[in-house]
Amino acid sequence: MKNDQIFKTHIDSIKEEGRYRSFAQLERLCGDFPKALYHAPDGSSKEVTIWCSNDYLGMGQNPVVLNAMRDAVQKYGAGAGGTRNISGTQKLHGDLEESLADLHQKEAALVFSSGYVANEGALSTILKIMGPETIVFSDALNHASMIHGIKSSGVQKRIYAHNDLADLKSHLRAAPVNAPKLIAFESVYSMEGDIAPIEDICDLADQYGAFTYLDEVHAVGLYGPRGGGVAEERDLLDRIDIFEGTFGKAYGLMGGFITGSEAIIDCVRSSAPGFIFTTALPPAVLAGALASVEYLKTSSDERNTAHANAKILKAGLDTAGLPFLQGESHIVPLIVGDAVCCKTVTDLLLNEYDLYVQPINYPTVPRGTERLRLTATATHTKKDIDHLVDILSLLYEEHRVFEFMERA
Ligand code: PLP
Repeated sequence: MKNDQIFKTHIDSIKEEGRYRSFAQLERLCGDFPKALYHAPDGSSKEVTIWCSNDYLGMGQNPVVLNAMRDAVQKYGAGAGGTRNISGTQKLHGDLEESLADLHQKEAALVFSSGYVANEGALSTILKIMGPETIVFSDALNHASMIHGIKSSGVQKRIYAHNDLADLKSHLRAAPVNAPKLIAFESVYSMEGDIAPIEDICDLADQYGAFTYLDEVHAVGLYGPRGGGVAEERDLLDRIDIFEGTFGKAYGLMGGFITGSEAIIDCVRSSAPGFIFTTALPPAVLAGALASVEYLKTSSDERNTAHANAKILKAGLDTAGLPFLQGESHIVPLIVGDAVCCKTVTDLLLNEYDLYVQPINYPTVPRGTERLRLTATATHTKKDIDHLVDILSLLYEEHRVFEFMERA
């Protein structure tokens, strides 16, 4: 007789720590984002404002994207019908990959079913092909998908302190001169809201002969004159060997991609299990992604509004004296520092003030650094932002529910 008590005990321990994950059930209201209909566990529903979405530019409801998707469903039907290798590759894949290669001024690009799969597949394959002597230098706060890819490659890794050039340099200096090397890092760190010193990292990479692998998941679409990301904004596209990105954030859809040289992309295409052994993205998603990428190459309105809104939010929180992490990016992390307290704050926001912010707990962030991760999108109004700041100030001043923040 099988007994699942071990699983129940595990869940009980997660609940005791206050980091049990409950998912808010939402109906995003197309045309009305960031508003959504929230369905409460008691069966009731109400309209809420979302404050933690990665649809930074509202492209998930952009008519250009929606029309492209509708047309694709009409023309090509629902699914791709197979893996990329066996009948799943659509002409749209080719068009999208061409558009992405152009975005990053690279020879080639490859589309995956998600950003997670892209990082896992690309890093594990590239590092394996570089050989067993390879050393990968990885920022301490890199995303789980990069860590997964590095782990499955089996090569040696050196973790350098987050965005710490001196630590990265000391690891590079200590490594054998002839060992193949790759530095894996992100541009925008989505839980910290800060941005990597990309140019300095590239200088070190040149000095020590290392390849550069940059995750621009939270930056593509949103930074750079054509939405290429922070490297494009800083005129560094040619300093990065492999870019990784997603359609799941600023592009408003789902799916991931890498861009790089013909040879590197061909190796990943030929060997990465996460690319080969899975059904290709459906035509409607490909068409929507292509429309979104192309649209954001020429329209900067959404980008400008999103960045302006992030500035207004930060200024409001500053004035209210709320201690948020002062990063350069559009993401605003408000450290609470305790899992139970974090959940109390977000429950209050949702139940009493119709504001939806998901608490961010371990293992997404280290214990003791639990936080609210606020994102002001291009679709929030000044009124929305002022209202959020007022409510957060009220909770901070009156309920003192942020008492842990002083310790953070
Ligand atoms: N890389 C980073 C830095 C991320 O934050 C995420 C997801 O949040 C991913 C990769 C994975 O992207 P996707 O959501 O498209 O799987």
